[in-house]
Amino acid sequence: MPRQGRTAPTHGRDVARGSAAGTTLGNGRIYRWGSWLAVLLLATIALAAAQPRLPTWAPPLALVAESPERIELGPYLTVRHDPTGEWDAATAFNQQARGEFARNEPAITAHGFRTGAVWYHAVLYNRSHPARLWLLSNEYALLDRMDTYVRYPDGRVEHRESGDALNFHTRGAPYRHPNAWLELQRGQPVEILVRLQSAGSLQTPLVLWSSAGFTAHAAREQTGAGLYAGILLAMVFFNLVMWSTLRDASHAWYALHIASFAGALLVLQGLGFQFLWPASPRVAALSVPWATCLATACMLLFVRSILGLRTRGPLGNMLAWLLVGASVAIAAAAWWLPYQSATQAAMLASALGFLLAAVAAALSVRRGDSGAIAFLFALLPLLFGVALFTAATMGWMEPTPATTHALHVGSMLQMLLMTAVLGYRYAALRQENARVVREAREQLEAKVAQRTAELKAALAQLEHVHARTKDSSQRDPLTGLYNRRYFREAFERQLKEARETHTPMAVFMIDLDHFKMINDRYGHVVGDDCLRFTSRTIGPVLRPTGALLARYGGEEFVVVLNGHDLEAAHRVAEDVRRKMCEQPCRSGGHAVPMSCSIGLHPINPVLETSIESALEEADRALYRAKKDGRNCVRTSVRLADDHDAGAIEPVPVATSIDLATEREKRAQR
Ligand code: GH3
Ligand code: MG
Ligand code: MG
Repeated sequence: MPRQGRTAPTHGRDVARGSAAGTTLGNGRIYRWGSWLAVLLLATIALAAAQPRLPTWAPPLALVAESPERIELGPYLTVRHDPTGEWDAATAFNQQARGEFARNEPAITAHGFRTGAVWYHAVLYNRSHPARLWLLSNEYALLDRMDTYVRYPDGRVEHRESGDALNFHTRGAPYRHPNAWLELQRGQPVEILVRLQSAGSLQTPLVLWSSAGFTAHAAREQTGAGLYAGILLAMVFFNLVMWSTLRDASHAWYALHIASFAGALLVLQGLGFQFLWPASPRVAALSVPWATCLATACMLLFVRSILGLRTRGPLGNMLAWLLVGASVAIAAAAWWLPYQSATQAAMLASALGFLLAAVAAALSVRRGDSGAIAFLFALLPLLFGVALFTAATMGWMEPTPATTHALHVGSMLQMLLMTAVLGYRYAALRQENARVVREAREQLEAKVAQRTAELKAALAQLEHVHARTKDSSQRDPLTGLYNRRYFREAFERQLKEARETHTPMAVFMIDLDHFKMINDRYGHVVGDDCLRFTSRTIGPVLRPTGALLARYGGEEFVVVLNGHDLEAAHRVAEDVRRKMCEQPCRSGGHAVPMSCSIGLHPINPVLETSIESALEEADRALYRAKKDGRNCVRTSVRLADDHDAGAIEPVPVATSIDLATEREKRAQR
């Protein structure tokens, strides 16, 4: 105390002064001071020893009209731990009466894994509350046994059993937390003794509910649970639909993760026991490690898939599989293992699983996987929730509303954020798909373009070959002129057109003179050259007129002139004849003089019935040209200026050949 703090040094100084003045003071004074000090010391020790012990009682809970509907019993309890778990109610009542229970202060509700049983005692006194029925509830579902002993003023003791080591229907209210109904008559104090025992984590948040308060609370809780389950189911369904449409396995794993996590929550909250297996405490006990292991395994499988650990983190992938295997093994071993060991092992696997998930995500982020940042961000609330829940379960911290709802809030946040992650992933996959499709399309287009070009080239080649084939079928191989077959078709066509347009036409036949003799004298090779020479000579003369020229057979040629009347056609024929005898054909060292006879027939397309008759007329004129001495043009009809007899006097060709031969002989000599 400050006052003592100030006085003590002063006194010290006095003592020092006293001892310094010892020589002036007598020894008797020293003894007197010493004995006073000794008495003071002894009195202090005696006072300290006589200090009364802390009260072993707690104030009774007095219920008045204004009392809340939910009252935490902590401050009204005394507590005693029974390490053997073998005490009966009478023993506990006696111990409490002897003051051997301790005041529950500070109120501890999380005991962690604790053997034996914990006994609580309280006095409840309904002074003026209208409600008679109250529910005593231990707000932690996974409690093996809760035995409530109620002692009334008349000494009567009633026993109520609850907890998940017993059939669900033994409990007072059909509520997920172990509970017992209490009847608190007005003006009548009631003593309660509660024995709580669990092979798992022991938590003892004892609460007293008024019956009306409890009914309202149960309704609220059910609405909340329904909402939570509804959101979870929707998420599961949504992810299954996404999986079936997108075929992205992450969605399936996520659906499984959510479903298994929901299952674990259901079990941890006591809802599994309440609704699914109320008659089987054995399943209730097994469900805790089973649900935890299943949730861990599914979570790891989801993490593997979404972080792509198989390709991007082989070590993480291996560890994930190891933990999945361990979870399965623990779940199987839970059948034989004691409950405490099985749940602790399952919780350890789960903690390691979450650690692995967090580390794998962090490493993915470091590697530059932008999706992993969102995943890590989404995982954090759940990690935090699980950490809080585990800390409370292990008794490392007192349960608070935060630890109680940590898993719900954490999982909800995780689900919302994870949906965003999956959405992000979907967008990334879609972009990737679009890129792949675009590339494939571009490749395909390039290939199609290449193939089209090849096809076009092949078609052009084919067309060219076809045209050449067609052309060669229309041509005479020796001279390259049109052949007789093509000539007849073309002539037929032109005649028809001329008939429609009333255009005059003419046909003339050209026959080389004494060709047999040329063959005989110079040989067939020279003869062939002469035929080619003829084609080369006539062609240019006829080209300006647009005439149709063909080799009719042997050394005979035929020409059709369109738009030419008799006079015009005659001029052309004369040009041809003249050109033919202008130059000799040079072949094989010979200069072979050439000439031809021409028979011309003008055609009136309206009157001319067929090409045969026209050709016959021309042939007849040709015959006359031959008869008239060759190397002349004769027409089938008379010319206007009566030139029919021949514009030029025919030159006997045989004579010219003979002259040429004479010249050659002279040259040789
Ligand atoms: P003319 O003045 O009366 O017309 O007498 P010609 O000798 O020209 O008439 P002819 O009809 O008696 O003889 C035609 C000759 O043309 C007979 C044949 O050997 C020759 N001949 C026909 N076709 C060819 C050919 O493709 N090449 C060669 N070298 N000779 C041919
Ligand atoms: Mg002939
Ligand atoms: Mg001839």
